[in-house]
Amino acid sequence: MSDTSAPSGPGRTDPAQSRDRAFKRGSGGGRRGGRPFPKGRQIDPQALEEVRKTLGNRPRRADLLIEHLHLFQDRFGHISAAHLAGLAHEMRMAMAEVYEVASFYAHFDVVREDETPPPAITIRVCDSLTCEMFGAEKLLGAIAAETGNDDIRVVRAPCMGACDKAPVVAVGHTLVEQADTAKAVAAGRTALAGKAEHRPIEPVRLDDYLAGGGYGLLRACLSGKRSVEEVLETLGKSALRGLGGAGFPTPRKWSLVRAVEGRKALAVNADEGEPGTFKDRYYLERDPHRTLEGMLIAAWVVGAEDCYFYLRDEYPEIRELLDLEIAGLEAEGLVAHTRIHLRRGAGAYICGEESAMIESIEGKRGYPRHRPPYVAQVGLFGRPTLVNNVETLFWIRDIIEKGADWFNDQGKDGHPGFRSYSVSGRVKNPGVKVAPAGVTVRELIEDYCGGMLDGHAFHAYLPGGASGGILPASMGDLLLDFGELEKYGCFVGSHAVVVLSDQDSVKAAALNLLRFFEDESCGQCSPCRVGTEKAVKLMRQEKWDTGLLDELSSTMRDASICGLGQAASNPLAAVMKFFPDEI
Ligand code: SF4
Repeated sequence: MSDTSAPSGPGRTDPAQSRDRAFKRGSGGGRRGGRPFPKGRQIDPQALEEVRKTLGNRPRRADLLIEHLHLFQDRFGHISAAHLAGLAHEMRMAMAEVYEVASFYAHFDVVREDETPPPAITIRVCDSLTCEMFGAEKLLGAIAAETGNDDIRVVRAPCMGACDKAPVVAVGHTLVEQADTAKAVAAGRTALAGKAEHRPIEPVRLDDYLAGGGYGLLRACLSGKRSVEEVLETLGKSALRGLGGAGFPTPRKWSLVRAVEGRKALAVNADEGEPGTFKDRYYLERDPHRTLEGMLIAAWVVGAEDCYFYLRDEYPEIRELLDLEIAGLEAEGLVAHTRIHLRRGAGAYICGEESAMIESIEGKRGYPRHRPPYVAQVGLFGRPTLVNNVETLFWIRDIIEKGADWFNDQGKDGHPGFRSYSVSGRVKNPGVKVAPAGVTVRELIEDYCGGMLDGHAFHAYLPGGASGGILPASMGDLLLDFGELEKYGCFVGSHAVVVLSDQDSVKAAALNLLRFFEDESCGQCSPCRVGTEKAVKLMRQEKWDTGLLDELSSTMRDASICGLGQAASNPLAAVMKFFPDEI
């Protein structure tokens, strides 16, 4: 990957343009304006030395700030104020800017001068909906009690993309599936002894992918055996849509970005954080090259000079894998037409929103942008940018090799194509289920998941993760596809289906979801920041004030900047509408 290849100049400029500019290390500091130190703060010489050692010869570009912050968090277990000041100095950035970025992301522990650093090991207990249904609250208390004398802290954390293995915890960022107290404590102590290992995965590696005909299509594209027009024509006949949640037709998006003049970029959104969604993890840890080949074909079609792969921090084993596989691809000569940059998220759900992700890739807080302009026109570093989800790119090779009809014919009448539904909750066999677009939840439960868990009767379901609303079992024959659920105030989004039984409370489920949105609101606009907080307060009451909640819900929907705030009240609105007896 080219990010560490050459030192370059400071400032949040396009790295491709600044790549070759020499970094001048200041003698006694020196910001661009000539100020000797970041304003208002002296630099501790020892901390500065540690900063320089930690950064090594990595470029000091501002867009790499988050990558650099990870180095400190990984090495020291936290980020001290002295290191932040040293980093600001070294990167020629304002201390305030470095601080506001570091403190925005949940995976950075910023420790002020008067604070004590956190314990060596952190155990994160997922308390998102499915894990809560499977005992996260009790688990959290039990692990905390058991590890009270260890140098371990136990905290709550949002969805880790493993809802089919609930309850889950992460020790550091290493996942423990179907966790119980004994497993979690043992993993914590192993980590404390410095012997932690990532969960094993068994992906198709580059050699095997090549042996199975992989990258044959890309080679045909790059060598001129296939034309862009031909690829776009096949894709244009397919019903492939953005599978990250928005459902925008993929061929149209590619054509739009291709038509824009100028140097372009591509960003792969691998930051699935929607509670209930785990399909991107599923595909990346099994067959990463299918997504990478789709990405490289997309870059060729739209003419993207750079591909940024933004991966959530909760998937460290996939990050290690991608690092290796991308290096292999470069050695194989398959990346000559573009450059791949692997970027690491830092625990912010909002960065799954495409413009927030772009801000984060640029090294900033993940604040969604106002639109227009759309990212297809003005995206990464001001360049027209194609943003695609992991799964969308995963199907590109198959669709072009096997034809649009192969994809389209696998759907139901009027709902072409198939979808990957992440199913979790009270079913016998949860997991990623590839089913025709427009399958119903009843079919998913009975035909794909082996039925409900013994002793549980189907009561309600989330058709599209935390923000897609909650529907009753009596509406279990609705088609789960884009455009089908909107009239009920719901949507299918990333196709994350959580099944609730007669032993679950929809009122408690909605509160769990609103607590999640309250935590994850980026805080940029008050309808969302204040609205989620007020909603949680009102929903904690034994009897809901439905008039007030309804008013709050409308305000959030109408006045929030981005989809998080606009959809955050869907679960509570759905509960008021479909489950009036339960509130
Ligand atoms: Fe941030 Fe929420 Fe506003 Fe979106 S709606 S910009 S998440 S505060």
